[in-house]
Amino acid sequence: MVDSKFAILIVDDEQDTREMLTSGLRRKGYMASSVVSGEEAIEEIKKNKYEIVILDIKLPGIDGIQALEEIKKLKPEIEAIMITGYSSIEAAIVSMKKNAYDYVEKPISIDKIVLIIEKALEKHRLMETVALYEISKAIFSTIEFDELLQIIVDLTMKVLRSDDAAVMLFNEEKKLYIAISYALDEQIAKETKLAVGERIAGWVAERCQPVILINGLKNDIRFQGIQGRENIKSALVVPLTKNNQVFGILTVNRISIVDNFNNGDLYKANIFASLVSLALDNANLYKELQKAKNQFIRSSEELKNNDAVVMSTFVELKKTNEELQFSQKQLMQSGKLAALGRLVSDMAHEVNNPLMVISGTAQLSLMESLTVKEIRDNFQTIVSECVRAKEIIDRLLRFSLPSKGEFKEVDINNVIKSIVSLVKHQFELTGVVVGERYADNPLLVLVDEKQIQEMILNLLNNAKDAISGKGTISIATYVKENLVRISIEDSGSGMSDEVLNKLFNPFFTTKDKGTGLGLSISQSIIKNNSGQLHFQSVPGVGTTAIISLPLRKRQA
Ligand code: ADP
Repeated sequence: MVDSKFAILIVDDEQDTREMLTSGLRRKGYMASSVVSGEEAIEEIKKNKYEIVILDIKLPGIDGIQALEEIKKLKPEIEAIMITGYSSIEAAIVSMKKNAYDYVEKPISIDKIVLIIEKALEKHRLMETVALYEISKAIFSTIEFDELLQIIVDLTMKVLRSDDAAVMLFNEEKKLYIAISYALDEQIAKETKLAVGERIAGWVAERCQPVILINGLKNDIRFQGIQGRENIKSALVVPLTKNNQVFGILTVNRISIVDNFNNGDLYKANIFASLVSLALDNANLYKELQKAKNQFIRSSEELKNNDAVVMSTFVELKKTNEELQFSQKQLMQSGKLAALGRLVSDMAHEVNNPLMVISGTAQLSLMESLTVKEIRDNFQTIVSECVRAKEIIDRLLRFSLPSKGEFKEVDINNVIKSIVSLVKHQFELTGVVVGERYADNPLLVLVDEKQIQEMILNLLNNAKDAISGKGTISIATYVKENLVRISIEDSGSGMSDEVLNKLFNPFFTTKDKGTGLGLSISQSIIKNNSGQLHFQSVPGVGTTAIISLPLRKRQA
């Protein structure tokens, strides 16, 4: 069975020959149809796609040779087989000069003509393959998007014998814009933005269906409203698709070329459009890849900068650790603050947590499958965990540095006043009012002033953290028996019994960025200064921290 995709047109005024050929070729599996004159043949070829024409040289009206000339002008790729009588050998030679493929003499047998048809088809296939090969070679010669658009327009005009062509693509707003046009006025090209369904391009995009226009724009209502193209005689509008989705439109126009496009051209345009779609998709992918590559390079630069932040935090962390080891040794040697020894070993454990997060996240970042955003997020985690680890160490260092035995007699009112003056204004800016009430007389205590200051500052900060929005903190000093009492009362969230029980546990915190070290260290400090620290708290009402220190009697 013959590939029925090939169509044959029989042109003969003799009814017998016509019918014999038509039915005989159909039986052999060809798509065969017939007309009686050269004029009819030309009209038919304009409208429909044929690979082969079997032409009688002797025809009424224009003869077979004239018809051949016209057909070759319209469709040079059509192979023509001429039918000659005994007396028309000369005419057969003329037709061969005019590019007929072959000729057969009457009387014709089907077998004889099928042999010629098969050879002609073979040549036709070969020519199509060569043409397609040439076209695809040209189309796939570049991957650069803009260069490709230019090649497409040039080739379209050549392949489809037209004097204008354009490619429209969808922009981000899902509107068709003119990516390239051979002859359209630049301003009009720039301003044209068509929604799906709008004008002929939108119509084709909406239905994913090609359209052919013949005999001028007025002939087809769908072509109304085209700007700068009022003189189009014939046009092809073909969708460009990927996975059955329209991503653009190819338009081909004949303006000064008088012949209309025919179904054969439309068929060719469809094949051409599928090649164009493939090439544009490749180029687009390449463009996206280039964009992603550039973005990746930019992000890696940023990441490198981030890297620098992480590195410097690591270096600082290492330095702080060394300092810590040194002070730990000093502490242990002096035998003072033994409780801190336990704290330090707890701290080693606690600092290990952020370090585990850091090393885990860093390892995760080394995996190739992560997106740039994921890598950036990981670096963010690393940076904040480094900061947290460093804060823990800093905090501990500040408290654990040896006091060098700097116990001295101070008026606790003055110590508190100096601390409050530091924070009062800042607290009030956030709506927290600080009230102060001091015992009249100087309240002398023998303490390590720096440590006591740190401790009170920590308690004030905790009180403020417990207040969301507006609130009050009242600090008061008084004497009860032989003890100086400092109370810090806040109108904050208060604490549940569960929190109260864990309050002095090193690293216990309910805050996002807390270290959980403030109170455990405060407790060590207060013990070191022969005092006590207590809390009273009512959930939802507030908390009061009470510090007791031995009152020193002024020497007479
Ligand atoms: P951190 O400052 O990291 O939270 P602290 O040792 O200072 O560590 O405090 C431990 C926890 O005790 C806090 O996270 C908080 O839950 C609770 N806390 C301390 N002071 C108060 C307060 N005045 N009001 C309510 N809760 C408090």
